[in-house]
Amino acid sequence: MTDPAPTRPKWVDLHCHLDLYQDHAALIAECDQDAVATLTVTTTPKAWPRNRDMAASSKHVRVALGLHPQLVAERAGELPLFYHHLAETRYVGEVGLDAGPRFYKSFEAQERVFESVLRACAEQGGKILTIHSVRAVSKVLAHIERSLPGGSGRPVLHWFTGTPAEARRAVDLGCYFSINVEMLRSPKHRAMVAGLPGDRLLTETDGPFVEIDGRPVRPSDVKQTVIELASLRQNSTEVMARQIISNLATLVGP
Ligand code: MN
Repeated sequence: MTDPAPTRPKWVDLHCHLDLYQDHAALIAECDQDAVATLTVTTTPKAWPRNRDMAASSKHVRVALGLHPQLVAERAGELPLFYHHLAETRYVGEVGLDAGPRFYKSFEAQERVFESVLRACAEQGGKILTIHSVRAVSKVLAHIERSLPGGSGRPVLHWFTGTPAEARRAVDLGCYFSINVEMLRSPKHRAMVAGLPGDRLLTETDGPFVEIDGRPVRPSDVKQTVIELASLRQNSTEVMARQIISNLATLVGP
């Protein structure tokens, strides 16, 4: 017999791909057992129903409806399906832009998709979005400014690697930042993260795309990120953990 899952979350993983692991169902149970408030993102609208159903009775796992920018070239045709399901969820992601060399060819299509996703979210209101911005930070911010204006949605920049000036612009636009352990391995990104306002910080794993001890990271490993973030910002782990839980409450609050 196991203990019942704790009611209040202790940790936050605001961006993880639970459906890309072999043991999807076991991971959901693990998130509940360890009280990790986890946002599991989807990369195509077709993946939504199964993810939604699997997490339906979970205390701590929420599911985001997404269309990953790296898949826009093949999956833009699923956009109507995205709109079909949008009213079923408050959470949207993974969405955004990727101007890396492998995906640059679809960049115009990515911009059209992202733009229309933002507009649909603004129209329905109250959505929380987890946003990818590889090599495209200023474009992503321009789209948010134009199509998800103040108060019409809550953007969270996932694995943000912009400059301190871009970070300030994102803060002014109301963005939150979800930080993972891989970002903190780069001195340049550590310095940027050190300067972010404490009330906009969240944590994520981006599992299984990030490894820890030679294996794909799991949501329960997010504690490691909190420990590192605390030392970077000269806080205790307890204070940092409390801050992140409080930021999550604000993000999902009224
Ligand atoms: Mn991701």
